[in-house]
Amino acid sequence: MADCIAVSEKTGVGPRQFDLDRCVHCGLCLNACPTYRELGLEMDSPRGRIYQMVRVAEGAPITPSYIRHIDLCLACRGCESACPSGVPYGRMVEDARAEIEAHAQPGRFEKLWRRFVFGHLLESRATLTAAGTLLYLYQASGMKTLVRAMGFLKLLGRLGDLEQISPSADPPFFFSQIGRTFPAEGRRQYRVAFLAGCIANVSFARLNEATVRVLQKNGCEVAIPGGQGCCGALHLHSGLREDARRLARRNIDAVLSGDGFDAVISNAAGCGSTLKEYPHLLAANDPAHEQAARFAAKMRDVTEFLAELGLAAPMRPLPLRVTYQDSCHLAHGQKVREAPRKLIRAVPGVELVEMPLADQCCGSAGVYNVTQTDTSLELLALKMESVGATKSQAIVTANPGCILQLRAGAAIHRTGHEVLHVVELLDRALA
Ligand code: SF4
Ligand code: SF4
Repeated sequence: MADCIAVSEKTGVGPRQFDLDRCVHCGLCLNACPTYRELGLEMDSPRGRIYQMVRVAEGAPITPSYIRHIDLCLACRGCESACPSGVPYGRMVEDARAEIEAHAQPGRFEKLWRRFVFGHLLESRATLTAAGTLLYLYQASGMKTLVRAMGFLKLLGRLGDLEQISPSADPPFFFSQIGRTFPAEGRRQYRVAFLAGCIANVSFARLNEATVRVLQKNGCEVAIPGGQGCCGALHLHSGLREDARRLARRNIDAVLSGDGFDAVISNAAGCGSTLKEYPHLLAANDPAHEQAARFAAKMRDVTEFLAELGLAAPMRPLPLRVTYQDSCHLAHGQKVREAPRKLIRAVPGVELVEMPLADQCCGSAGVYNVTQTDTSLELLALKMESVGATKSQAIVTANPGCILQLRAGAAIHRTGHEVLHVVELLDRALA
């Protein structure tokens, strides 16, 4: 496979020459790029970033300016959808970040912080449970409400913004369901494995439960394989490719060691995109490549799977005017656009009103809203303007990260929107 051998001579981990050569510098991607639209700089456009990657591949040093422009990229892959040359920008920016990581000399605090988040928090059920419990105490003790009511968040500046977009705890956590199998309701049509994520077990436990229920009611037996864990998407976006590979092997083992599943399901578009791309992460020379390919062939986003399956369970009417926000990694990464819309339209009484630029990133983008909070909040403000034009009551989307960001948008801009995952809407109609 040509795209698996040609690598940067500098470190062996940078963007592949084969990928860099595909860009013909036409600029057709510029208007699809949220950071170019917002910041107006060629160097913050896909074409400009590729130009900088080429310079580094030719031997130019990795400068703070290069790192800044690559960091400012959302990795939303909007440019991939617009590109007529098939430039695989998503993996190029991941490769560029891995190369930066290989050269990086972070400060002591940053090193410790990254080790804690990527090495412990995201990977350990015990650490996530402890963090979730602390978060829950902060919420349930009334401290969160008090901090907000007294205007402390404004005094905290950027830290205050971060508090608004941080996840909340949703006990009882979904970790207790891992290892269980839930029977299909009625005649069993399919047997599926559900990958529940990492933070989602703490912050989106009810969403995970709703996903299982909707699948059960539509004829699926749902197993939650015991050995599963974080998919590695956040590690990859942060340049930690070896960690992502280790996590990929763990998930592949967890699924392939189980009884044959008809499909492997994710309800998080960001995770699903990475899970489908495991064969690229574990490339042809990796001993686990063939298993990664078998695994990826079964991966489906829950909306994609349900739309293919066809909704069998009866639904009651929900009189609601909604708009749909495409999750970048579903629309641009997985090329799934129609399935969630089809499911929304299938709910009796629901009116779907399209917003302008529905497939432009809301600014969530993995950890982008934490690392680039200012730009993230500017993009969120634009998104809420588009939402406002629809006169909708609720925003429906397909990724937990987008849900958090849009809920923060509804709170900051006081729009009153409810924000739901597609399966939460279905679950409500099925209840
Ligand atoms: S990434 Fe694609 S659309 Fe953008 S400049 Fe290169 S070839 Fe053109
Ligand atoms: S991934 Fe998104 S932010 Fe990055 S260059 Fe492409 S369109 Fe722009």
